[in-house]
Amino acid sequence: MRIENDIKLDYKDVLFRPKRSTLHSREEVDVSRKFTFKNAQQDWQGIPIIASNMDTVGTIEMAKALAQHKIITCLHKFYTAEELQPLFKDDVADYVAVSSGIKNDDVEFLSKLTAQIPQIKFICLDVANGYTQRFASVVARTRDKYPDKIIIAGNVVTGEMVEELILRGADIVKVGIGSGSVCTTRIQTGVGYPQLSAVIECSDAAHGVGGQIIADGGCVVAGDVAKAFGGGADFAMLGGMLAGHEQCDGELKEIDGQLYKVFYGMSSETAMHKYYGEVAGYRSSEGKTVSVKYRGDVHHTIKSILGGIRSTCTYIGAKSLKDMSKCTTFIRVSQQSNEVFGKNS
Ligand code: 5GP
Repeated sequence: MRIENDIKLDYKDVLFRPKRSTLHSREEVDVSRKFTFKNAQQDWQGIPIIASNMDTVGTIEMAKALAQHKIITCLHKFYTAEELQPLFKDDVADYVAVSSGIKNDDVEFLSKLTAQIPQIKFICLDVANGYTQRFASVVARTRDKYPDKIIIAGNVVTGEMVEELILRGADIVKVGIGSGSVCTTRIQTGVGYPQLSAVIECSDAAHGVGGQIIADGGCVVAGDVAKAFGGGADFAMLGGMLAGHEQCDGELKEIDGQLYKVFYGMSSETAMHKYYGEVAGYRSSEGKTVSVKYRGDVHHTIKSILGGIRSTCTYIGAKSLKDMSKCTTFIRVSQQSNEVFGKNS
């Protein structure tokens, strides 16, 4: 047994240190980014935020709405090709990823899907635990089969595995274990890694071998998204922050005059019952089901997140999102905000 004694940080443990800056207004800040992905050899430009492939958030409606902002939606993996075809006719392929697991059925399904919808540009290979040999081999096989698709692979939280996945053919590695808003992995298994440190360490590893990372999970407010970018993330993936909107799947419910939408983890009992009819005997649920206050159209939320990030950039003197990490000094804090009049989220 070994103990690592250096301190690992979450978003809540730090704030940005403001710096003198020549920027006049947040309008001057460029929040889009351009990447040429190492393995796919494809160019991409847009706002590097991604709606999570959870089945209430990674919806076709969400993709239509977010593509207008050049923001990516990672669709959940339960759509049929027939359901997806009309979306791809709308010329949104730059801002839509399709998801797949790594079981034989998933791999076959992906094959059919990409044959029927050749416009698909992003493939997200998503497993709860990205540390298995099997996962790394599926990433390698997927790269061989689709040499020019942009492959996202995850989830992991340590640099050596980020490097391995990129060397095996992933373009972007998804980072985060146990940090999600409806995730109970840390409680069920005791496994996890404080998210900001995971992002800092994994982005450094990825950039060293020419790849990118997504900070996946744990962002609760716009400031957390800014901290992910400040810590070196190339993309930030959001579940809970995009839940509860008009574009999300799930019924609207009224409780005491307030509208709510259901939101649940992809390994919650709710999701397992919905798609597999039961929680398989050998596994436990690692996700929760919650009701989220209805928040209307997602465009307002996106504007507010982007406004927050632009403002962070003006405080730290970053002209663009790309400059954020080099303009970032984090200070460790014991309190995030003054909550005398209630929570500010
Ligand atoms: P959030 O933005 O809500 O904090 O986190 C979203 C992320 O949580 C997702 O992109 C995914 O990586 C993770 N996630 C989603 N559902 C589950 C689940 O049921 N269990 C666990 N462990 N993680 C989940």
